[in-house]
Amino acid sequence: MTLHPANLKHLELKTGASAGDVLEKIRSFREKNGGMDRIADTQLYISGMFALRRTDQLEAANITHVVSVLRGRLDKTLIEQFASAGRHLHIEVDDDDDENLIEHFQASNDFIDKAIQGGGSVLVHCAMGISRSATICTAYLIYKRQIPAEIAMEIVKQSRPIICPNLAFRKQLEIYSENLEQAMRNLDDIPAYQRYLYRKEVEMSRLANKAPTINHYGEDEAKEGGEMELKCRKCRRTLALSHSFVDHYAASPPVTSSSRLLAAVGMNKNNCQHHFLDPVVWMKPELEKGEMEGKLECPKCSAKVGSYAWHGMKCSCGIWVTPAISLAKSKIDESRTRSTL
Ligand SMILES: [Zn+2]
Ligand SMILES: [Zn+2]
Repeated sequence: MTLHPANLKHLELKTGASAGDVLEKIRSFREKNGGMDRIADTQLYISGMFALRRTDQLEAANITHVVSVLRGRLDKTLIEQFASAGRHLHIEVDDDDDENLIEHFQASNDFIDKAIQGGGSVLVHCAMGISRSATICTAYLIYKRQIPAEIAMEIVKQSRPIICPNLAFRKQLEIYSENLEQAMRNLDDIPAYQRYLYRKEVEMSRLANKAPTINHYGEDEAKEGGEMELKCRKCRRTLALSHSFVDHYAASPPVTSSSRLLAAVGMNKNNCQHHFLDPVVWMKPELEKGEMEGKLECPKCSAKVGSYAWHGMKCSCGIWVTPAISLAKSKIDESRTRSTL
């Protein structure tokens, strides 16, 4: 078998094993299992592309439906019999950190569920049966059994030990399992998903040295009481509610938020002179200018209240925050919104 060197490097990084070890593992795995594994207590199978050639095996497992999770590179003759009967779902994504798989979960879950309910068996495959297909199978278990992502992935792993979804897919599975009900209604309503998309967009734009396109802004009017809010010290206008706060201690790996460790590297939370935020709706005119950095003025009294920098900025506590939208603590007051009840 051959593997593109870049893919191999990627695998090494992802699994922490050497290229030789990875190849050997995959090879022995294929020999033993013909490349296809059944996930325990389901009619769901997972594999790499190789398994599609084993028609004897597909027949023995009564595979009626196929989900292909890969971009291009799909041999049409291999999936012909499924595609022509409307029993093939093709999700075109690469195994990259910037791919959005979560937006396909509902379609794949519906497809798999319908097939299984109808007495069929489903094969989910990608190129190697390691990252993309494992993510789709995990999402199905989360959906079907209402279990946390971690447990669902463990179940898939027990059936196929070589699975290793990339970090972005793991994050997406986590968001999905923690917000399952909302995800089934409308993914876009999930704040954690919006934050994920925003960070991804900033990261991609930053690499291209461009200002990001922001599709979602946080509210600046409290709907419920009891939220923390930040107000302009001069005019009292509300500038941010707690759902837009960014904890730069939690969001800045690899530095841990343990105070002992922070002290050891000369960082102290008490030194923070900034609040960091996700975009809030009043910032829109400024953030849409397309600049890499700039100042933020209060929309009511025009007092300078903060600044932003897509490449990031260093907080006075010593942590580098990327992206950085910050309000100066000296320019704002913190309070708790009154209950509307
Ligand atoms: Zn700080
Ligand atoms: Zn003001």
